Amino acid sequence: MASEIKDDNAIEKPIEFLPPLLSKKFNITDVKQDAFKWDKEWEAAIASSTAADVLKEMSCFLDDSVFTPDHVEYLHKILRDFQKVATDILDKLLNDGHFDTIWLLLNAVEQRRHLLEGLKGASNALTLWGQDCRALCPEVTVSNLLSQGGKGFIDFLTRVLETSKSSNIPAFLPNSWWEQASDLPNPWWGQASDVSPPPRQRSRSTKIMFEVATINRNKFIGHFALFSTSSILKDITGRGEGMKNVLHLMENSKGYVARSIAQVKTTLRDKPVIRCENCTKMPEDIGEGVRFMVCSLCKSKLKFEVHYCSQSCQKEHWSVHKKACGKKRVTQGLSGTKGDSLWAFSDSDPVANLIRNLPKDGITLRNIGVNPCKGKRSPAAERQAEMLEADKDAEYFLFTASGERVRFVIDDLGAKMIFRINRGVVLTQPTNTVGVNALGEYMLKLMSKYPGLSRDIILKQLCAEYGDDVAGEIVKLEQDSGKRGAGTFIESWLKDCSSVFGSFSWLNLMV
Ligand SMILES: [Zn+2]
Ligand SMILES: [Zn+2]
Repeated sequence: MASEIKDDNAIEKPIEFLPPLLSKKFNITDVKQDAFKWDKEWEAAIASSTAADVLKEMSCFLDDSVFTPDHVEYLHKILRDFQKVATDILDKLLNDGHFDTIWLLLNAVEQRRHLLEGLKGASNALTLWGQDCRALCPEVTVSNLLSQGGKGFIDFLTRVLETSKSSNIPAFLPNSWWEQASDLPNPWWGQASDVSPPPRQRSRSTKIMFEVATINRNKFIGHFALFSTSSILKDITGRGEGMKNVLHLMENSKGYVARSIAQVKTTLRDKPVIRCENCTKMPEDIGEGVRFMVCSLCKSKLKFEVHYCSQSCQKEHWSVHKKACGKKRVTQGLSGTKGDSLWAFSDSDPVANLIRNLPKDGITLRNIGVNPCKGKRSPAAERQAEMLEADKDAEYFLFTASGERVRFVIDDLGAKMIFRINRGVVLTQPTNTVGVNALGEYMLKLMSKYPGLSRDIILKQLCAEYGDDVAGEIVKLEQDSGKRGAGTFIESWLKDCSSVFGSFSWLNLMV
């Protein structure tokens, strides 16, 4: 890739050193000094400019004596060659099935670091305007790309790849902000650069300048995609410090676990939402420009905000609220609001909802329930569910050969939660036996030496409850865990999960 571009230096080199006019105009920090600050300043500068302004500023030193249509054709060819290589790389990367999971599992600080590496790389790559090319790419902002736990970046790469694959190369990533700098719609450029006459007459210099800038915009985007992804790949192969936890999780859990955690991360809220304490609506449910009110007494006395969408909602809710008003910080803890200890989790997250829907009085882990069941349980599983319903402090009931009941209880809160969540899935969705493996492995480790129990006895019981296949699957999971030497699935899941999400401190609320 690099060599192909080097050969073309002859044309690009003389104008590569154009002064960074825009950076100067907006008083932007040099990318080499502080990429983070550089990015922030550009985000603000782009937000306050139109594409036409940017183009005008950038064409300051250039006129059509610099570029002939032949030049443009040549620049097209360079971009085409570059995009061929970039498309191949991105295609492999995005379709290997792990890259997006690894990326999503990285924490935001690490994600930002890689994005800034990408921006630095693109700024130093061979383009006409160097770091000023950033001004042509409003979609390449760190905050955009970090949105939804980093899904913004994956979406961006996917769009770049799809654009390249679906049109004749060179491919131009559509962007309505940028296209406002030209009256010519984007597809026109894709058809041919020598269409004549153009749909609308413009001065040749403007048309050519827009085309040259568009080529450089897409080059910057391509370089950004390559430099940022290669920074991530370098960290994966070199097992960089910031990558360790994620790789550990990838290697020590079944693929679906890592994927599901990554998936949860894309739905996490970055801040709590506001809901009317009475009708539970959010501002966006009601309409634009609506202003929610807060209870003034609670606010002044307790520095505590209880929100209402309207006076009538406040009135309606008064009979409930008056007991605590001004005296105690009490809200309903509606889903997603500050008062919801799981506000970061989306309203449709099944695990968060399982916990949210626990009885409000005496919220405890012991209430992570068993019922109701979708589908039909085996008689043995039905009996298990009934016993668990009757004894909420027990994690599970095992049976000795003579039929004596052994009550299984876990002390560790994290393990208790994971066990109970898996148990909930197993007992409410009889066709979904994935969780049985985790339960079985954990109980075999802790209980097979218990007087009256053995591996065989426990496995036999689980087969009676969930089907004959589960014994083989449990043993397989045990073998996998043994190879890793990392404890059972539940133990290592817990460890890895807390390294991605932080500690499960909210569990203490539930004891
Ligand atoms: Zn309301
Ligand atoms: Zn109040």
